[in-house]
Amino acid sequence: MSETSSGQATDAIRHADILIVGGGLSGTMLAAQLLRLPGKRSMLVIEPRAELGRGEAYSAVELGHTLNGNAARMSVDPDNADDLTQWLTDHITAGGWPESDQQHVPVSQLFPPRGLFGVYVQQRLAEAQVAGTLQGSTVEHVRAEVVDLQTRDDSVLLTLSDGQRLQGAYAVLATGLFPAARTPQTESSGLNAAALDPWDVAAMRQLDPQSTVLIIGSGLTMVDAVVSLEQAGHRGPIEVFSRHGLLPQRRRQPPAWADFLDADHSLRTPRQLVRELRRHCRDAIAQGVDWQAPLDTVRAHVGRLWSQATDAQRRQFVRHVRPWWESHHHRSPPLSAELIELLHGEGRLRIQAASFKGLEPASNGAVRIRIRRRGEVETVVVSGAALINSSGIEYDWRRVARPLPQQLLARGLIKPGPLALGIAAQADGAVLAADGQAAQRLFAMGPPLRGIWWESTAVTEVCSQAKALAARLVS
Ligand SMILES: Cc1cc2nc3c(=O)[nH]c(=O)nc-3n(C[C@H](O)[C@H](O)[C@H](O)COP(=O)(O)OP(=O)(O)OC[C@H]3O[C@@H](n4cnc5c(N)ncnc54)[C@H](O)[C@@H]3O)c2cc1C
Repeated sequence: MSETSSGQATDAIRHADILIVGGGLSGTMLAAQLLRLPGKRSMLVIEPRAELGRGEAYSAVELGHTLNGNAARMSVDPDNADDLTQWLTDHITAGGWPESDQQHVPVSQLFPPRGLFGVYVQQRLAEAQVAGTLQGSTVEHVRAEVVDLQTRDDSVLLTLSDGQRLQGAYAVLATGLFPAARTPQTESSGLNAAALDPWDVAAMRQLDPQSTVLIIGSGLTMVDAVVSLEQAGHRGPIEVFSRHGLLPQRRRQPPAWADFLDADHSLRTPRQLVRELRRHCRDAIAQGVDWQAPLDTVRAHVGRLWSQATDAQRRQFVRHVRPWWESHHHRSPPLSAELIELLHGEGRLRIQAASFKGLEPASNGAVRIRIRRRGEVETVVVSGAALINSSGIEYDWRRVARPLPQQLLARGLIKPGPLALGIAAQADGAVLAADGQAAQRLFAMGPPLRGIWWESTAVTEVCSQAKALAARLVS
């Protein structure tokens, strides 16, 4: 038995050097990096899912739910851009993923299923565990949700959903993405209860194949949902509603383009950036080069530009540029894009610029939603046999109805990040408390740092952060 600070006797508290909250790609890659660094350390990764390394993104089971970048862009090793290509080459040679030959491209240009990417992540973790064992380092998966967190001078204490308590020298919030609940008139649970999971092909098989399906949101989750419907044999109309009515662009393989932002650091404001980027895109098109080439040079500078910007400039970006940034930058994998283009061309998939205003009562298993079309004052009700909510991510932790974000806010251990996107932190990931003090023992990585870096979600970003944070924790 041990004692808490309040003097209450408890069953033993488990101890570890580092507690990682969340075992998606971020938490798993952080553990892998820590296992490979010199020195001996124990780590616990607390994750309610059955497997580490998957999270929502890489728990996908359908082959059609692929990465949105090719193998050459999705290495988890920041020191080896070819790591995924090499792993895939071995995997395919050994008889894995036989369908890959349908893409007719070299391995580096394949878009692997996300579920297979999860296997790759797990294998890299297993290899790091072997390397870590040689120096006495360990990592263990604790299957539970962290519901509370307290900091002490010399440690961090976690309370889990099953009542267990864990104590560590450091804790890292690798809690990933929380689904959006844009439901002005209803509780978030109302919309989510009425909606089908965008990845649940089995549930979609229960629909009448000729029925109308409504989808809220037109980003990459909508693309996945359409792939799921197709896989389930759905052949009826699909009505997509999103504020701007923009579809994700198809990802191509553009050639290299001069890094104009590297050459000119005076370009800072959203207006200057957009003007300059448009100029480069026009130049590219005039030279017969894909406009995606200049756009792809911007990614490396996004963190610097966002962190240097004032809040007013950030707001300007979010308000005026974000919809175009999302649809042009977060592009659709080619096979999914082909399907969307085909259905759009056939008139089976319609996209409308309209905002979702709420659920309406419905009977006989139908769904009815109220929308307001762009430019119109009146709202209208549309109905269908099923509804899919693909309206994105909730980055404002004050609106995330999970115990841990609420407890951290209530305890003043975190505060909202810039523009209420994620949580506030230093560049090294040390979390800022409500009073602005940087935590000594509490860190964050990945999507919770959206407000610090703007782009803090994709594979390459979280894997680079994992490497830097591991070095920081060990130092
Ligand atoms: C459907 C989908 C597809 C994507 N596709 C791509 C892609 O093709 N390419 C790309 O670069 N990026 C993609 N992304 C972005 C993707 O989010 C990142 O690549 C990566 O998954 C982020 O990893 P993460 O571990 O930070 O977050 P997540 O994958 O969200 O994992 C966080 C984990 O934390 C756990 N957790 C949360 N709260 C707690 C708690 N209190 N206690 C314990 N555990 C907790 C959750 O259960 C979850 O498993 C995709 C994202 C989604 C949702």
